[in-house]
Amino acid sequence: MSELTDRIAALRPAERVASARALWRTNSAVKGMIREALAAMAPGVQRCMYCGDSLGADIDHFDPLSRTPLRTFDWPNHLLACSVCNSHHKRDLFPLDERGKPLLIDPTVDDPFDHLLLSLSVGEYRATTPKGIATITVFGLNRPLLVRGRQQARRVVVASLRNWAKARAAADEPDMDEAILTIREQPFADVCHAMLRQADVPRADLIFGRDQDVLPTLRDPDLRARLLP
Ligand SMILES: [Zn+2]
Repeated sequence: MSELTDRIAALRPAERVASARALWRTNSAVKGMIREALAAMAPGVQRCMYCGDSLGADIDHFDPLSRTPLRTFDWPNHLLACSVCNSHHKRDLFPLDERGKPLLIDPTVDDPFDHLLLSLSVGEYRATTPKGIATITVFGLNRPLLVRGRQQARRVVVASLRNWAKARAAADEPDMDEAILTIREQPFADVCHAMLRQADVPRADLIFGRDQDVLPTLRDPDLRARLLP
């Protein structure tokens, strides 16, 4: 990848974008290796790293190739994305703040939860910073199908947490493993992570409402060790 970057850097700036596009199109072996590495890091079963819902079928250049061709083969600039997020929402959008710094949350550097708050009762994201606002807008993070999917994810996680607690009380390790696998492999991994974080805030019982019986499970160190990286 650094050799390919050197080849692009050796060109005049005006020629770099076209050359980067051609090199990206033709180097399928490199793309295959990037895809394999990203797939192993993706949430759920190779889900999109932006929405967490659909299959991450595309390799997205976070900083678009058209803007920064020298990052075409820069490893941290690659994310697995679904075609809806990549081709219909983000496209070549890359908003900058007044100092020229990127305004999208970069999940390889930023913790998305520093900028976004997931309302567990509604399934919608609220922004807590300008980066949060730009990210929700560019990726359409509150589009109705994602909101509905997050509500379903919450139901699946809650049911699995109850199963885990029941299996642990019965010292049934295979059923405990099954419950963890169900949570880990379902789409919208962000919902479970938001639940793990929000279980610790003051008045978490109000956030969890009728699911507040899972709070002791979410605070359990054994369960947290299985679900948090
Ligand atoms: Zn997506």
